[in-house]
Amino acid sequence: MSELVIKNLHVGIEDNEILKGLELTVRPGEIHAIMGPNGTGKSTLAYALMGHPNYEVTDGEAMFKGENILEMDPDERSHQGIFLAFQYPVAIPGVTVANFLRTAINARRKAEDPEDKGISIPEFRTLLKERMDLLKMDHSFAARYLNDGFSGGEKKRAEILQMATLKPEIAILDETDSGLDIDALRIVSEGVNALRGPDFGAVVITHYQRILNYIQPDFVHIMLDGRIVESGGPELALLLEEQGYDWVREKYSAVTA
Ligand code: ADP
Ligand code: MG
Repeated sequence: MSELVIKNLHVGIEDNEILKGLELTVRPGEIHAIMGPNGTGKSTLAYALMGHPNYEVTDGEAMFKGENILEMDPDERSHQGIFLAFQYPVAIPGVTVANFLRTAINARRKAEDPEDKGISIPEFRTLLKERMDLLKMDHSFAARYLNDGFSGGEKKRAEILQMATLKPEIAILDETDSGLDIDALRIVSEGVNALRGPDFGAVVITHYQRILNYIQPDFVHIMLDGRIVESGGPELALLLEEQGYDWVREKYSAVTA
């Protein structure tokens, strides 16, 4: 099954336990938003799923297609059909956005079939145009050097274009650490909305309660102190917009103290 099932996930940074038994299931076609106050471990979740070496998984599992992705190399996770944002945040002068995307597609195809000869240039051009149109992007963007002098919003666009061309089954996008404003969330949300369909699931991690202005998640989760403490529908994000996080802290203070 192409669903991501995270069970009892415990993750530490330098001997500090940050995630304390997190549970989450994402099925294909579902859009999940994870929200929570700063410092609750939202980015830790994204980094652990991506395989960042500083984040030590001490317990639990993240099963996808019958395998625990936490035991895989970051590349392998991506070849399985999971897209994790910020996999390639570096500027690569001399490599265009188009070249980079073609290399990424070919790496994934080769992982699926070692005999694969790679996507043909006409086929790639068609795919790239189609995806750029879907995201309402100017075609000239593809000819620019990846992340070289990109503004925050352009980096975000490059990332979303990467997601759209790789067509992952599940995408995990962490917005809080991006140091970007609400514009970044808008770009990401439009990308997620454009890709929305039965074969695409996403987890959008965000601090912004206003997410509902941009995206209609099927599920909203509130994270506090390393766990998901509340799950519901979009009404949960509305509640946060009206009341903030204080009621969540009060409700769970006995648990977290
Ligand atoms: P969020 O994304 O929800 O704001 P993070 O996952 O970034 O939260 O951080 C969770 C906790 O981990 C915070 O208390 C933070 O101080 C701590 N933390 C984050 N990075 C490090 C690090 N490199 N070393 C030690 N503690 C860290
Ligand atoms: Mg964060």
